[in-house]
Amino acid sequence: MSSFFWNMFQSGQIDQNAIKSSHNSVRTNSNSQDLTYLQDRLDTLSLANQAMWELLSEQLGLSEADLLKRMEHIDLRDGVKDGKITKPVIQKCPECGHQSKTHRACCYWCGASLSSTSPFAG
Ligand SMILES: [Zn+2]
Repeated sequence: MSSFFWNMFQSGQIDQNAIKSSHNSVRTNSNSQDLTYLQDRLDTLSLANQAMWELLSEQLGLSEADLLKRMEHIDLRDGVKDGKITKPVIQKCPECGHQSKTHRACCYWCGASLSSTSPFAG
């Protein structure tokens, strides 16, 4: 009789593992699609970046040393040389000068709009 319950338990475990495996397969497929999308976006952005650089270099006579110097300058704006542009957490209100977190749409102190007009704001 105990082997009957043991077999039922084992059968239940196998069914649960099959369901988990199915869910993991769906999740893996979704992650793979996300990765393909991001790779395509990166390829397009790299191509646009290369084209912009070549235009600037040809038309303004800028060198790669100029480019690398500016990249380092921008990288260091947050005080950390890590090869990344780190979005600031705090911004200064253009109306009252108080500091607010960058995710806020309006200033906590005066209610002024904090939405950026920069094309690079995320
Ligand atoms: Zn304000």
